[in-house]
Amino acid sequence: MTRSISIFGATGSIGDSTLDLIRDDRANWDVVALSANCSAEKLARLAIEFDAQIAVVGDESCLAELREHLSGTSIETAGGEQALIEAAQRPADLTVAAIVGCAGLAPTMAAIEQGNTVALANKEALVSAGDVMTAKVARHGTTLLPVDSEHNAIFQCLQGNDIKDVSWITLTASGGPLRAKTMAELEAVTPAQAVAHPNWDMGAKISVDSATMFNKGLEFIEAHHLFPVGLDRLRIIVHPQSVIHSMVEYRDGSTLAQLGPSDMRVPIASALAHPRRMDTQCKPLDLASIGELTFFAPDERRFPSTKLAREAAYAGGGAPAVLNAANEVAVAAFLAGQVKFTDISAIVARTLDSYAPEAPGNLEAVLAVDTEARVRAKEMMEHA
Ligand code: NDP
Ligand code: MG
Repeated sequence: MTRSISIFGATGSIGDSTLDLIRDDRANWDVVALSANCSAEKLARLAIEFDAQIAVVGDESCLAELREHLSGTSIETAGGEQALIEAAQRPADLTVAAIVGCAGLAPTMAAIEQGNTVALANKEALVSAGDVMTAKVARHGTTLLPVDSEHNAIFQCLQGNDIKDVSWITLTASGGPLRAKTMAELEAVTPAQAVAHPNWDMGAKISVDSATMFNKGLEFIEAHHLFPVGLDRLRIIVHPQSVIHSMVEYRDGSTLAQLGPSDMRVPIASALAHPRRMDTQCKPLDLASIGELTFFAPDERRFPSTKLAREAAYAGGGAPAVLNAANEVAVAAFLAGQVKFTDISAIVARTLDSYAPEAPGNLEAVLAVDTEARVRAKEMMEHA
């Protein structure tokens, strides 16, 4: 039986990996909506290849180009933030949320309202919206499947167990490309060095997050919402080989771990086939050639972002949304050569100090906190 699928962020790294899997399993899927921000040519090519019902660009100024590429086809086109939301309301058995940043929040919430299945890669949306998103998932009886490799690993390790029996959830972190750099060296890191991840091939924003360790900070908050064991039972360990994707320890002393190649097609396939399994073209894990798995405690003096995220999680309220928004602004500025690598965590820390909104109660309130935090982060940047 075929299933219908929509992919938001189809032109990105997660989009590529997802469509690779669909390509190899073509007969089982009907593609409803595919979206991009402005990669109109690539989006049009994918929409034609996968015979999508509709192709949507988030940036309305790119719609004319999309229409040009799709002229003569029967594929519908649309552009703008509202168009993304409307596309996410089109019935689909499974929606892959793979837009980067809080820009993906509103379409993800619209997809959740369908009450079907949402495969979530867009961690910034969950970090910002927190309880607003999980409450919507519960209200609509939606199945939320984590695609982030660590959370997908934890999800798998929890299957068949009672979450009440969990004593620890341990998120593994590769430590990123700058793990061994000194404080002085970190000051001088360029965008090219920061995005050169040793194990994973990802979009620019998450690659920088991986280098600062903000990625793990965001994932700590993501785990807190997906797996309600309490913040005191979540911890982070650096594991440079990225073979163990995360672990769950139970009260009897058993630790379950999920291992796999550093290839996002593995966790995505687990979400696409859930609760069954599907074939992938991924290279099997060759432990003998890897030889050694090592582990270190995170160094929060050189990489203060996990501490900032933990503090924001404990503070609650709007703090995680502020943390996320400030980080998005700081990362964009770093990639544009406007601030130093080490300014990223400083900008986030200062923004958090300047703005402590109450817990937003709905989507509009989350977006308002996000907007205000961005304004403040830009002010902090001017003083960086
Ligand atoms: P990419 O930068 O590779 O792709 C982002 C996608 O989102 C593109 O399709 C892009 O369109 C679209 N997009 C960007 N900005 C907007 C916007 N303002 N409105 C609408 N669409 C937008 O990112 P990744 O695929 O690496 O990451 C996607 C999400 O998945 C992130 O939240 C990331 O943290 C998460 N994730 C990624 C992993 C990975 O391995 N890559 C691993 C785990 C989680 P366009 O091409 O037009 O710019
Ligand atoms: Mg991850």
